[in-house]
Amino acid sequence: MHSQDSSVSSLTALGKRYWLPVYKPRELVLDHGKGARVWDTDGRDYIDFGAGIAVNALGHQDPDLLEALTAQAGKLWHASNVFYTEPPLRLAEELVNASDFAERVFLCNSGGEANEAAIKLVRKWAAAQGRPPERRVIVTFKGSFHGRTLATVTATAQPKYQAGYEPLPEGFRYLAFNDAEALEAAFAAGDVAAVMLEPVQGEGGVVPTAPGFLKRVRELCDAHEALLVLDEIQCGMGRTGALFAHSHDHVKPDIVTLAKALGCGFPIGAMLAGPKVAEVMQYGAHGTTFGGNPMAAAVARVALRKLASSEVLMNVERQANDLREGLARINHDLHLFDEVRGRGLMIGAVLAAAYKGRAGEILDHAAAHGLLLLQAGPDVLRFVPPLTIGDEEIAEGLKRLRAALTAFVAA
Ligand SMILES: *Cc1c(COP(=O)(O)O)cnc(C)c1O
Repeated sequence: MHSQDSSVSSLTALGKRYWLPVYKPRELVLDHGKGARVWDTDGRDYIDFGAGIAVNALGHQDPDLLEALTAQAGKLWHASNVFYTEPPLRLAEELVNASDFAERVFLCNSGGEANEAAIKLVRKWAAAQGRPPERRVIVTFKGSFHGRTLATVTATAQPKYQAGYEPLPEGFRYLAFNDAEALEAAFAAGDVAAVMLEPVQGEGGVVPTAPGFLKRVRELCDAHEALLVLDEIQCGMGRTGALFAHSHDHVKPDIVTLAKALGCGFPIGAMLAGPKVAEVMQYGAHGTTFGGNPMAAAVARVALRKLASSEVLMNVERQANDLREGLARINHDLHLFDEVRGRGLMIGAVLAAAYKGRAGEILDHAAAHGLLLLQAGPDVLRFVPPLTIGDEEIAEGLKRLRAALTAFVAA
């Protein structure tokens, strides 16, 4: 047997040769992490401002997560939902208790799957109300992102994700985000069963709901007997400085979906259902083999407890302020951003006209300077670090960002 070549070039060549070419990762291979730092196979370290797309909310190698995972791994890996195990039972109770609206929980494996369940639940609810299929429309908003399955990509009101996958499922209508008048007009047709939105749009450019918008959506849903579905897959689990993003607006949704940071890196998703919909899906109406997997649920219980703590939520406030101030200082010198927006540690820096479309190039410079950074579309840099990131890591990340942006501007 010949020895394996583990150089970066030979490893990345495997991805180029064997993966379905739907991704374009940067030219490095990550090996291990600790807190908000990650090391590649060459031993170079990176500050992690991306957290695996807002997933590793407790950073890397959190000792409590590690303990929960290894303890469960030594007991039972999987049982299916034909049998009970303890972790998903406890997790469901804890999610309901942590929320201010939910009565029941459906556990699954990803965000797309949680939203798929939400869409099916809306349809089932509307059917149970005696509404014909043409009156089960789900309104979503331009710039949204709800997943990659056929139904969730149809809910995703961005043509670039849908192109070529037609025929798409019926019964979705798209409106301008934050446009309450357009929503009021859409309800006039009398066929809207639900409104589905992200309290802070993620992939669409880190766009928060305008003040008062979520409240207005709730009022309109109530007035027209429609459900409010909140996709908190990216903005939930403490990212905005509250466990649930909607709690800033004092709004009670009917359905909330979670994933990403719920497992802090172990795949898990959840759909939380409020009183109007908690009993709508009965035996046989939905299911999943892996959902509520005991290892994922054991990890998520710890993630939920820690991410809901005042210690973590206060750190979000503190580090968000430092990060924003640092970005303002960089922008004062380099004039790269038109706007810095977002909520808590979900921050988007919108590139100025002269740099539009070049976020990807900036990410290359960032990686070369030891910083893992994300984009949200071609025009927005996205900052979603671990919620436990410390002062020193924020400062070091900003230093590396300044160096990367200086090199970008000079290139
Ligand atoms: C990531 C994301 C999804 C899809 O989650 P997957 O786990 O990739 O299926 C859905 N909605 C939002 C808001 C997301 O950020």
